[in-house]
Amino acid sequence: MLARAHDPDAWRTLLATAVTDSAELLRRLELSQHPLAATLQPGPSFPVRVPEPYLACMRRGDPEDPLLRQVLALADEAHPVPGFSTDPLGEAGQNPLPGLLHKYRGRALLIAAGGCAVHCRYCFRRHFPYGENNPGRRGLEAALGYLAAHPDIREVILSGGDPLMLDDEALGWLVQRLEQIPHLTRLRIHTRFPVVIPQRLTPQLVALLAGTRLRSVVVLHVNHARELGTGVTAAVLPLRQAGIPLFNQAVLLKGVNDDLATLIDLCEQSFDAGIQPYYLHLLDRVAGAAHFEVPVAEARRLYEDLASGLPGYLLPRLVRERAGAPGKVVLAPRWEAL
Ligand code: SF4
Repeated sequence: MLARAHDPDAWRTLLATAVTDSAELLRRLELSQHPLAATLQPGPSFPVRVPEPYLACMRRGDPEDPLLRQVLALADEAHPVPGFSTDPLGEAGQNPLPGLLHKYRGRALLIAAGGCAVHCRYCFRRHFPYGENNPGRRGLEAALGYLAAHPDIREVILSGGDPLMLDDEALGWLVQRLEQIPHLTRLRIHTRFPVVIPQRLTPQLVALLAGTRLRSVVVLHVNHARELGTGVTAAVLPLRQAGIPLFNQAVLLKGVNDDLATLIDLCEQSFDAGIQPYYLHLLDRVAGAAHFEVPVAEARRLYEDLASGLPGYLLPRLVRERAGAPGKVVLAPRWEAL
């Protein structure tokens, strides 16, 4: 059942009614009889979660649908692959307090919520111990104390899980507390929630992000232009009108967006929606996601073609994360020697 778009609680209904079973997903897409049904993973440890607006953008009868591929739990996930680990970025060692990651200079990441509106099978935090890192208000107080005691931190990144799993009231409390830390100047929200449930961008949420003294920045996560068909383009309009910068980070995924035409479409259509292409990530080598990996050499070739096919302002940076590195590693196209 789809909730009414103007209902401020519509997103809760859509979250609660998300599809949580791969077989059900295939049934809804008229693929129950397809050989794909024999490749599913029963009872995956990282459960399936697919909200209706996202499901509505998938093509019926298409086993290669790039949206379906991102959320379908395949038996392949359970096969160990050398080089793929449960903590590919070594985050366990950069976790000074539950719910707080201080990896980069000047920025700290707060895990404000331990869940997501959609479960992306390639997620690098699919094994992250959210149970130990879902601090609640008391734990957040400790994290706020850490932020207050580190004047070099200028920017707080709310991530997760997905920070928009917090409701507007809880988010409002957190933003108000962050505002009281004088050295903080920016608030960045990393979220995929509005892409899969655009109704999450309530007027209250927009007012919160537009009204804080902190400079708000929203980084969305769109991997394929068809994901913009959920209604997210219209939903982000009030954010744009409020002057909040919107960026997109995508992950380069085999079978989803690893061809030139798809990437060009993604960059052009994101920009048309007011979302600036920002990063194109190589896959983090997390256990269970090996079937999504695009080899580095192939990624570079694709990126060079992308650089030729787009104006510079539409070109995201090709990056990867490396455990212990002080920032993302940029894999540029070949630079001419000076
Ligand atoms: S929304 Fe982001 S954090 Fe959540 S499962 Fe997907 S990639 Fe991971």
